[in-house]
Amino acid sequence: MSSPTNHYDVIIVGAGVAGCALAQALSSLKRPSPLRICLLERSLAEPDRIVGELLQPGGVEALRRLGMTACLEGIDAVPVRGYCVMLDGKPVHIPYPDGYEGRSFHHGRFIQSLRKKARAAPGVDTVEATVSELVECPTTGRVLGVRATRKVEGTEQAGEKETFLADLTIVADGCFSNFRNAVLGGVGMKPVTKSHFVGIVLEDAELPIPKHGTVVLVRGHGPALLYQIAGHDTRMLVDLKTPLPSDIKQVILDEITPQLPTALQVPVQNALANDRLRRMPNTFLPPAEQGQHTKEGVFLIGDSWNMRHPLTGGGMTVAFNDVVVLQDLLRDVNDFGDWRQISHVLHRWHWRRKQFASTINILSVALYDLFGADDESLEVLRMGCFKYFELGGECIRGPVSLLAGIEQSTMMLARHFFAVALYAIWAMFAHPRRVIVDEKPVYLKPSIEEYPFLLFKCIRVFWTACVVFLPLVWTEIRWW
Ligand SMILES: Cc1cc2nc3c(=O)[nH]c(=O)nc-3n(C[C@H](O)[C@H](O)[C@H](O)COP(=O)(O)OP(=O)(O)OC[C@H]3O[C@@H](n4cnc5c(N)ncnc54)[C@H](O)[C@@H]3O)c2cc1C
Repeated sequence: MSSPTNHYDVIIVGAGVAGCALAQALSSLKRPSPLRICLLERSLAEPDRIVGELLQPGGVEALRRLGMTACLEGIDAVPVRGYCVMLDGKPVHIPYPDGYEGRSFHHGRFIQSLRKKARAAPGVDTVEATVSELVECPTTGRVLGVRATRKVEGTEQAGEKETFLADLTIVADGCFSNFRNAVLGGVGMKPVTKSHFVGIVLEDAELPIPKHGTVVLVRGHGPALLYQIAGHDTRMLVDLKTPLPSDIKQVILDEITPQLPTALQVPVQNALANDRLRRMPNTFLPPAEQGQHTKEGVFLIGDSWNMRHPLTGGGMTVAFNDVVVLQDLLRDVNDFGDWRQISHVLHRWHWRRKQFASTINILSVALYDLFGADDESLEVLRMGCFKYFELGGECIRGPVSLLAGIEQSTMMLARHFFAVALYAIWAMFAHPRRVIVDEKPVYLKPSIEEYPFLLFKCIRVFWTACVVFLPLVWTEIRWW
């Protein structure tokens, strides 16, 4: 039997990015008495992970709306003012518009800062315990709470299993969620992992443009991403396609490092010699509508529900914006135990969040397919995309505003994506292209005799653009 103190209005599983923000947001809902919220986290120690280190301006703004801006202070966070994209040693500067700034930091420090804020929120009990199962009503199947095991204080040992009951259970247990299948049942798509990010920290590295994320388009592999995460520390994430090579270090040294800017090569070699390589799967999981056809009494938020490629650093921005929308919708709910009301909120949430979440989700995967080009047509699109950015003006402002979460419009994204495709096709005819002559790269304009072949190729390129983009749109608009 559960003790009376283990009965709450809301249980949140996981005090990560989404869980902490949600605890704070629910606690600040205006009600006759504050909601009693139980935030269950398996380890309250500072996490040491290679995820969630760059917060886009749209995420900074969402944090402000949640009253959590202070979480970015006192953690040695670094302002981020945009991106520098590099291909074959050539940079293109992509600043955030209108003075917008993001922040980058050590993930663990940020999480501890979010947890501190959540713990201090009225009505929130933070409990260090690992949730092992959902508690369901034996007759209706409705979720009534969870079973969890606390750590015995001062030891690494697990205590007895306890039951925590609540009117509503919200699962925010991240990308490796143990409860995703139980909550969604057969609804939704399966997560797809196309590649992994392998991470190291470089010491005192000089980025081509300081305070800007650097994306190096690497031939033969996915892109390498670099951004400063503290005064002396720069994170490098290298995208390696699945299956991973057996000697990852050697592949980075031999095939990727020579393609990085010269100033970064020694710090990378030093980090490879001294630092432990860490890896994470880059998984895509479109969001499935929750409520009517998923388990009653529980729903998912954050990576447990919806994931995108981390190339564009959009995960935390989506999670914080999700919480902003949810907070607004839950304002009118008077009984968290009334699944009809919660179901209605979940339906509205699913469609209202589309504007920002779909844009970031689709952009991340489409851009990854182009930047990680692994066939000839994608290679043409990658080059076209780089040249499109070189045009400057709206060709930079539009895409970076979408990536930063400043603009939220899937239509605008489609416009830029197909403009890139058409520009890439035009560039095939009009621009000199890189060919290898006597083992050396040279740039040559196509001759008239090549036009029939290029015409055929441009159909393939446009088809590839459609095959990259349209299925992603479909994953977002499908309603079942
Ligand atoms: C390689 C990589 C790099 C990324 N880089 C960025 C980036 O730069 N910017 C960005 O915005 N996004 C980035 N992301 C995505 C971002 O990290 C996620 O979107 C974000 O962390 C999701 O938050 P969450 O709360 O859902 O999960 P998490 O932040 O992972 O939190 C889940 C929490 O649940 C806890 N938990 C899990 N299981 C249990 C259990 N059984 N019982 C109790 N507690 C449990 C965990 O300990 C953890 O604290 C990256 C992702 C990857 C893979």
